[in-house]
Amino acid sequence: MRILQIKENVVSIASEIQNAYIDFSNMTVSIVAVVTDVIKEGKPVVGYGFHSNGRYAQSGLLRDRFLPRLIEAKPEQLLDEQRDNLDPFKIWNILMTNEKPGGHGERSVAVGVLDMAVWDAVAKIEEKPLYRLLAERFNQEQPEEEVFVYAAGGYYYPGKGTDALVREMRGYLEDGYNVVKMKIGAATLSEDMKRIEAVLKELANYFAAGDSPGGHLAVDANGRFDLNTALAYARELQPLNLFWYEEAGDPLDYHLQSELAAAYDNPFATGENLFSHQDVANLLRYGGLRPEQDYLQMDPALAYGLVEYLRMLEILEQFNWSPGRCIPHGGHQFALHLAAGLGLGGNESYPGVFQPFGGFADATPVHDGMIRLTDYPGVGFEAKADLINLFHKHFQ
Ligand code: MG
Repeated sequence: MRILQIKENVVSIASEIQNAYIDFSNMTVSIVAVVTDVIKEGKPVVGYGFHSNGRYAQSGLLRDRFLPRLIEAKPEQLLDEQRDNLDPFKIWNILMTNEKPGGHGERSVAVGVLDMAVWDAVAKIEEKPLYRLLAERFNQEQPEEEVFVYAAGGYYYPGKGTDALVREMRGYLEDGYNVVKMKIGAATLSEDMKRIEAVLKELANYFAAGDSPGGHLAVDANGRFDLNTALAYARELQPLNLFWYEEAGDPLDYHLQSELAAAYDNPFATGENLFSHQDVANLLRYGGLRPEQDYLQMDPALAYGLVEYLRMLEILEQFNWSPGRCIPHGGHQFALHLAAGLGLGGNESYPGVFQPFGGFADATPVHDGMIRLTDYPGVGFEAKADLINLFHKHFQ
């Protein structure tokens, strides 16, 4: 068994939306196809990969370093002999040959793209959905057949007023979500509070009396705030009892996060911009987060892939955090499989944005805040027509 070819390309996911830090007018994504010599149903098994929104395409790193290392490796260096399959851990080590530790930068994104494609191929070769393979190999528990998802939106864009924001959030509820998320931090505190209060009013109308609307709303500052601003928002948000307050300050400013935790009793979420298990250890060690209530959002498709994500889960165990506190960033099918197979607490969802990479199988609508996995082998890109069509268009 061997990898015959690896194809790579770049696609645009440009849009008008903005968060507190960036706009997405030039956003791109790297896509790859790992073609194996294994034949199923008359065709070679091909694993596909991409990375999450928010980081740009990684063509340079892929072409200059990571693809040549994989192509030049001897086939036996990549094999899981016991299972007669590719070995994602050996492949990861080949990819990271001659890479110094630390300073993880964006090479973690490039490696993540390839790691996703390798796991897709591995599960297809075993003819099972990835989440079942993960549960068998890495989890003592049965996989979950459905996973909690929340609707992430509420972006700023030119001309969008509070009415449009409220309509957007209402649409997510009507589509089956129970928790919605909106951006904060690109307006003043008083403007943001008006936006938040308008959404809370709509949530109060939608859910039964006595059901706290704050429990259905998360807010995300995308790392925008300094400590004083983060604290000022915290004071206003505290009485609203929100689902979570996300990425208040710089993702690597653990001091800010711990100072903020001392002043805010309700849940935080952070971690989508931590790309290594070492960074996660530092967050848990120094960030003041509370394992009984806070959430971790590391995204395997930005952070060296599933191989590294498993190391992150080992760090969680050392610090007495449950995998159930993890709700990955990214809104993609790959993380959905991790959630179901490894017992994570849920997954992000981006209804309507970052298409076709955002979203899940066409035949699995969200119901009561949950989404079902499918039986397609691998990650199941084939169950999402716009995404598999994109892969076919670029790679056939
Ligand atoms: Mg975020």
